[in-house]
Amino acid sequence: MIDEAVAVLSEAPDIAVVCHIGPDGDAIGAGIGLALAARKAGRSAVFSFGEPFSLSDNYDYLDRSVLIPPAEFPRAPDVLVTVDAASLDRLGSLAPVAEAAGTVVVLDHHISNPGFGDVNVIDPAAAATAELVYLLLRRLQWPVDMDVAAALLTGLVTDTGRFQYSNTTPATLQVAADLVAAGARPDVIGQNMYERVPFGYLKVQAAVLDRAVLSGQFVWSVLYLDDLNRHGIGPEDTDLLIDAIRIAKEAEVAALVKELQAGGFKVSLRSRGSVDVGAIAGAYGGGGHHNAAGFTMAGTLEEVVAAVEDAL
Ligand code: AMP
Ligand code: MN
Ligand code: MN
Repeated sequence: MIDEAVAVLSEAPDIAVVCHIGPDGDAIGAGIGLALAARKAGRSAVFSFGEPFSLSDNYDYLDRSVLIPPAEFPRAPDVLVTVDAASLDRLGSLAPVAEAAGTVVVLDHHISNPGFGDVNVIDPAAAATAELVYLLLRRLQWPVDMDVAAALLTGLVTDTGRFQYSNTTPATLQVAADLVAAGARPDVIGQNMYERVPFGYLKVQAAVLDRAVLSGQFVWSVLYLDDLNRHGIGPEDTDLLIDAIRIAKEAEVAALVKELQAGGFKVSLRSRGSVDVGAIAGAYGGGGHHNAAGFTMAGTLEEVVAAVEDAL
């Protein structure tokens, strides 16, 4: 299918790129990398994601000139590329754009992706969507300069947990080597993604860890909106919290249950490998990978935790 994606993009003067709501490093990196490279290849390109449109200032080291608010995003682009979005609903308020677009190209690596585009490049063997974007850019012969490389390496670093998860393949490392050769800075990415939290984050992490519960081989905790308000941080600053919980050696599966502004909870699931948390998330309308997945659910905290424990 990559041939078809190359054919569509090589002919397209205007390209609109969208990633999943609540974007992580791969969604942002793949989206910026693709849109920036398109511009440098002489195309017009924009990139956005559905509301809430807030991005942590930890991404300030990237060239965000292609990023526009969802309200300014074209309503019916000729060519729309979705990156790192496992399903149409993960586009949030921009999902109608995919329905109105001329041709939808889906670039993704989630095994749960049903292939909701006209052209689907879905490779669960890719460590990150950014890895697929890099291969696509090479095929298109669009420029991978230091700004494009920084964005794409950010996707690889974050989705592989700094090249330590089982999705790290020789191909992943080969792409990473190419990106560093092109000028991406591993030290800058490492500092900004892992060693630069607001002070309030320390207090929030303390509260979340204090509430952690070990139930057999399952460890979980909850993040309340009140934690964020009290310590002055935003939901976009909470991506690293699950990593502090899942390291409990007794646990095969970890969950962080995050209270949502709109009501209900977002559940982040992580597995050491013996349990397919992607299947659990899928059973509750979410998705993801074998070892990292998520879903949202209405109801009380007790009901949400019981749902995960039942599935286990
Ligand atoms: P997170 O826990 O948000 O870091 O997400 C872990 C993995 O699951 C990422 O690859 C996400 O893209 C994916 N994921 C999270 N929530 C959902 C959802 N509601 N539907 C599909 N995939 C999801
Ligand atoms: Mn993602
Ligand atoms: Mn990803």
